[in-house]
Amino acid sequence: MFASRMRTFNVLKQNTSLLSKRLQSTAPKVAPVKKSSILKPIFYGSLLAATAAVGYGVYGLYKEQHPAPLPVETQSNKKKLVILGTGWASITLLKSIDTSLYDITVISPRDHFLFTPLLPSAPVSTVAVESIKEDVSTLIRQGSGKVTFLQKEALDVDPQNKKVIVEGDKAVDYDILVFSVGAQPNTFGIPGVYENALFMKEANDAVILKAKLKENLQKATELPAGSQERKDLLSMIVVGGGPTGVETAAELQDYISEEVAKWNPELAADCQIHLVEGLGNILGMFDQKMYTLAQDHLKKNGVALKLNAMAQKVVGNTITVKDSKTQELVDMKFGILIWATGNGTRPVTAKLMSRLPETQNNRRGLLINQKLELLGAEGSIYALGDCTFHKGLVPTAQVAHQEGEYLAKVLETRHIIDNTDNDAVKASLAKTIKDFDYFNQGALCYIGGESAINDIKMSKKIEFKLGGSFLSFKVWQCAYLAMAVTWRTRFLIACDWIKVHIVGRQ
Ligand SMILES: Cc1cc2nc3c(=O)[nH]c(=O)nc-3n(C[C@H](O)[C@H](O)[C@H](O)COP(=O)(O)OP(=O)(O)OC[C@H]3O[C@@H](n4cnc5c(N)ncnc54)[C@H](O)[C@@H]3O)c2cc1C
Repeated sequence: MFASRMRTFNVLKQNTSLLSKRLQSTAPKVAPVKKSSILKPIFYGSLLAATAAVGYGVYGLYKEQHPAPLPVETQSNKKKLVILGTGWASITLLKSIDTSLYDITVISPRDHFLFTPLLPSAPVSTVAVESIKEDVSTLIRQGSGKVTFLQKEALDVDPQNKKVIVEGDKAVDYDILVFSVGAQPNTFGIPGVYENALFMKEANDAVILKAKLKENLQKATELPAGSQERKDLLSMIVVGGGPTGVETAAELQDYISEEVAKWNPELAADCQIHLVEGLGNILGMFDQKMYTLAQDHLKKNGVALKLNAMAQKVVGNTITVKDSKTQELVDMKFGILIWATGNGTRPVTAKLMSRLPETQNNRRGLLINQKLELLGAEGSIYALGDCTFHKGLVPTAQVAHQEGEYLAKVLETRHIIDNTDNDAVKASLAKTIKDFDYFNQGALCYIGGESAINDIKMSKKIEFKLGGSFLSFKVWQCAYLAMAVTWRTRFLIACDWIKVHIVGRQ
């Protein structure tokens, strides 16, 4: 049986080889398609692009870390430009303007720039707090002119006499003032919030939240598993369904699911992250498809969403929320309450408003014209960023950044105008100062579990939306790296992300 099968097999083999030889001799000779001929250019192209990107980054980092020596200043007859704040608007202005044109003084109580978009990642050590801070001393040395930094809080501005009053009753004179002090958290007068909630605004807020999280997790290990007392302690409530609140809730949930669950699953089982939002949906700046995707994703990952819930009061470790549909009052216990909603006016901004009562009559922020000049002090004070209120300009880093870039160009043109005697030239140059035209580049939000939703506008016509996938997370990461203001922070953030993949969070 076996021998006959082998014979049949050998006959078949002979016939097949004969047929293939005949076919080979008659068929026209076609060069075989080499796989490598397609892959080679892609491989070398990618290698070249990656090398160029790394080279560009290394060059940028080197340049940043090796500032040119400052020119020796003789008696200066330059105009005095005073900038209040070291946030998005002021630092972008400082990075964009030719600093040798003005006698520049920066005044701020904060000696660093904070990369706020990644602040929600810091309490759970997805990035280190130090990786998202950049020293002002580094930033003021990036230009070609001398910049003086006063680490002080501005208390008042006298627009008539062109003076800024800072702590210690010191007056600083200015010719041009850039008022960009940002905003402070707004608790809308809800009782108990200020006393019992944590905030997510400054670098120190991340440090405080991190310490509180650690403390509560430790305390909880001493309580019986599954007990109500332990669950209340491990209940973390984030109020505010905007990007800050969503990203904070998402990062906390990642930490519980990826770190606490790995090392202490019993403890993770008693943790619960709540996201409370007064409206019927979160992330109102995205379209319905995107915010629904975000809501479903958060729920799937374990975040409890409480929509249509308006905070009423906070007493001790209980927040009372009112269901805006049923009017029902619900008490929610917490171990940590994070207030991530609302922008309020800083005292120095309110004071400036009171000095110009005829023009500054909107409590939501400083009123400006299309050239970002403060109404009532046009020509001498510009106001940028979160401290202003202007139709179409929302309080985001994106707006503050574009305003900083715009103002740098305006001030450079003003410098040329001021140093020209020819009136016709002055007039024609003045005409080149166009109104500020904000271009909304879209919105991004991390939603946890290595996923994000992105609505990116490349131009007024080209827009793409990407959400819920690993690719959307990578796009989100690339966009944030591109937004970072220095190569040093870019490098540190990238290293932190790689570190989390290899050894997890702290
Ligand atoms: C957690 C978080 C995440 C965010 N994520 C994003 C995002 O992903 N994308 C986005 O577009 N926007 C985001 N934002 C919003 C964005 O950070 C703000 O819109 C932006 O910081 C506004 O810039 P600004 O320059 O007006 O104010 P800020 O950046 O707040 O800077 C204000 C500066 O003024 C200083 N200052 C305060 N008081 C005084 C005083 N009396 N005298 C002198 N200086 C003073 C402050 O110390 C600070 O240096 C986020 C905000 C937060 C809090």
